[in-house]
Amino acid sequence: MLDFRHSFLVPATPDCVSSLVSFREGCEVVFGSWFRSGRRQKLLAQPLASEWQAILLRNVALYPRLSPVQQRKLVDDLRIIVAERRFVGCKGLVVTDEMKVTIAAQAALLLLGEAGYYFDRVTSFLLYPYKMVLPAHGVRPSSDENDFDERVILGQAFQQGEIILSWPDVLSGGRVADDGENVVLHELAHHLDGLDGQMGGSPPGLAADRQEHFHRVFEAALDQLRRDLADGCDSVLLPAAAESTSELFAYGTECFYEQPHELREQYPELFACLGEFYKVDPLVWFAENNTVTNTHYEDEDDERYPASLDDLPALETADQYFIRGQEFFSAGRWDLAAADFNRCVRIDPADQEAVVWRGRCYLYQDHADAALADAERACRLDPDDREAHSLRGMCLAQQGRFAESLAAFARAGDVLMEDMDALYYRGIAYSETGDWSRALADLSRVIELDPSDKEAWYERSLCHERLGKSFEAERDLVRARELGWKDEGESGREGEGATE
Ligand SMILES: [Zn+2]
Repeated sequence: MLDFRHSFLVPATPDCVSSLVSFREGCEVVFGSWFRSGRRQKLLAQPLASEWQAILLRNVALYPRLSPVQQRKLVDDLRIIVAERRFVGCKGLVVTDEMKVTIAAQAALLLLGEAGYYFDRVTSFLLYPYKMVLPAHGVRPSSDENDFDERVILGQAFQQGEIILSWPDVLSGGRVADDGENVVLHELAHHLDGLDGQMGGSPPGLAADRQEHFHRVFEAALDQLRRDLADGCDSVLLPAAAESTSELFAYGTECFYEQPHELREQYPELFACLGEFYKVDPLVWFAENNTVTNTHYEDEDDERYPASLDDLPALETADQYFIRGQEFFSAGRWDLAAADFNRCVRIDPADQEAVVWRGRCYLYQDHADAALADAERACRLDPDDREAHSLRGMCLAQQGRFAESLAAFARAGDVLMEDMDALYYRGIAYSETGDWSRALADLSRVIELDPSDKEAWYERSLCHERLGKSFEAERDLVRARELGWKDEGESGREGEGATE
């Protein structure tokens, strides 16, 4: 499949070149006074919201590998980027905090060795709900992944400053740290490369003699890659990198950050140049003794969290338990989170919010009856709380009570729109009651929010099938299987264990 990124070369306008002598110097001139105004310092004085921390851990797989100093810089930089850059949803995509944080954090990876530039020259990030098709003139989005005849792109960097990104590809690129594919790194590498007025693989901010050196190294690497491709040899760089030194710079950046050992082995000089430009050493992130690599949010052996309930330190107030419970929840430790929310409920039996959170923990642990009991209790405590009704809808769907589930979801309203699990369960409830079109809409939204959700792909394939769309059904089924779906067992999330 023609899955590659693209840079769109537009002749630089004179004012684009004028004030930017170098990456660093130019920004000092343009943005220095604003920096002094203290807005950024005020912003950074606030603690990072726990939801944002959870997004980082969930969507930016490189983050846990960074040193503590690098993590702090990345967190600071991402907040400035989120605050100062424009994020625009296209084709009906609603921009969420998750999108902004995920993109800004990956962008900030490129700034770890840099100070004073926050992609100020990116006029806006334009986010699409799917990959785009590039005809001869301009871009048109496509939801049809089987469109082989045209150029399918995941993103695009314009010389004038816009960055176009396909959100599902941003997400899948960010969640895998070591596959050398990351569309945000790619497009922003083009952007940095173009700060001197042209995207030619010669980044700005280099002394004249280093520029010559870079030029020589990039030309040699390009020759080597083209030779390797012609000879059928494996390369860490994708074939599209052979298009130009500009693409080599962008694809090389992806490998530099995500497959540094392989890049250094195959293209040592290119690796050294990228290290000189980005001023970081990703080799240490992938070193065997880097224990932080184990801190993925779903990792059961996560050293930051106690191994069992017995090891949970006692806290003083219900608020403290609530906050810690949310942290465990974000880390995917439903057992520990449930224990903390349980303490809140014991301290105050009318703590409706804690009941909702505890119910969700039970739901994720497959304690169906306990989850439903909490959902109903939460609805009684606050009949207007839409989160509680949404939880009740999920619990009822999990128990196969689909009509009741849909009635509960109807009372939850638009609270569902950003809640993948609620949408998934509602999709199943629609599907099981024969409303294939609505099921299809919900499952499509789930896939949009998390393209790696294999159950959603599988369930959507069933909807397509029942709607008579056999081509789409087959396509979704293939995708589900690629993602590890095994279709001999039960369908649905709760069936996953039974199919192994
Ligand atoms: Zn490119």
